Amino acid sequence: MKDKRVEGVVLRATPYRENDRILTVLTPDRGVISLYVRRLSKSQPAILNLTTPLCRAEFVFKKGKTDLYRFLDGTIINLHLPLRRSYRHLEVAGKILQAILKTQMPGKDSYSLYLLLISFLKKLPEAVEPETFWATFQLKLLKHEGLLEIAENCLLCSSAPAMQILDGESRCSQCGGALGFPFKNEEWRILRNLFDTRSFDSLLALKLSPYLTSGIDACFQSAVML
Ligand SMILES: [Zn+2]
Repeated sequence: MKDKRVEGVVLRATPYRENDRILTVLTPDRGVISLYVRRLSKSQPAILNLTTPLCRAEFVFKKGKTDLYRFLDGTIINLHLPLRRSYRHLEVAGKILQAILKTQMPGKDSYSLYLLLISFLKKLPEAVEPETFWATFQLKLLKHEGLLEIAENCLLCSSAPAMQILDGESRCSQCGGALGFPFKNEEWRILRNLFDTRSFDSLLALKLSPYLTSGIDACFQSAVML
């Protein structure tokens, strides 16, 4: 069988046997794939780096009998080393990888999510408030999955301004009742900005209120658990 090449970001590296590793990699066109890396050795630091979470690389692999591909070689594109300079930034990067692992299936088209991930990882080291990047990533991931819609007006009655999230939909206080997750006016405006923004520069120094970050966390958790 011919060797294949694919670009990807390592989401997870699981040690296996004595010197082997199983990589879970997000790719732009194959979704999440698993690569089996045999006989890792300390004398090959480039391969060790290549098979570490957060590494963006081009991977060369062979298809085996199962869905587990056999890793042959690879070229590092970006190790994202600046992320490792601060625990806060590294922690957010780790949460982003976990969130993708939780939501993506093998073979699922993930081109736009892949672009989102690499631009987040590139920009995250510059963030003064990395937690704002985490909150925004959760909103973008739910949007990508079609699990969240944040609109100006309530999506049920379409007349009153939306103030709550209920089952991933924007609701006014009347339609959401006591069941939705409520936000204040100003918070709703910020939420809409984060949901729609295409510019990361506006996020770099933005500090969110603890209520807003925990509200976004709660909406993400409940959507992903469904
Ligand atoms: Zn309504």
